Amino acid sequence: MATIITEECINCGACESACPNTAIYPGGRPWEMNGRRYPALQEDIFYIAADKCSECVGFFDQEQCAAVCPVDCCLPDPGRPEGEPVLLERARRLHPGRPFSEPAPSRFARLPAEVPPP
Ligand code: SF4
Repeated sequence: MATIITEECINCGACESACPNTAIYPGGRPWEMNGRRYPALQEDIFYIAADKCSECVGFFDQEQCAAVCPVDCCLPDPGRPEGEPVLLERARRLHPGRPFSEPAPSRFARLPAEVPPP
């Protein structure tokens, strides 16, 4: 899933600079990719260009917009289910030439197995 910003957004702008993919734009501002501009997807609140969102896979183990949002309005988009391989490939395409560690940081990373009590 790409992440979406819900209508609870208070336009604080904390998320915009946190995104490693420059996928977040203020309402009314066109989004850009590969030198092309596309119409704004929201007029009044911040929005995420889904084609640029990797859910932070490749960079972090948590969505950074969600981590900094004071009103918890950055959520997985249930209408756009995407798995880790698709998201990592997107991160690679958005950052050609950038090395990604293996395994790459990912919110899908499994938690360490529970250690049984002694
Ligand atoms: Fe950007 Fe990560 Fe939020 Fe997607 S989940 S918009 S990549 S900060």
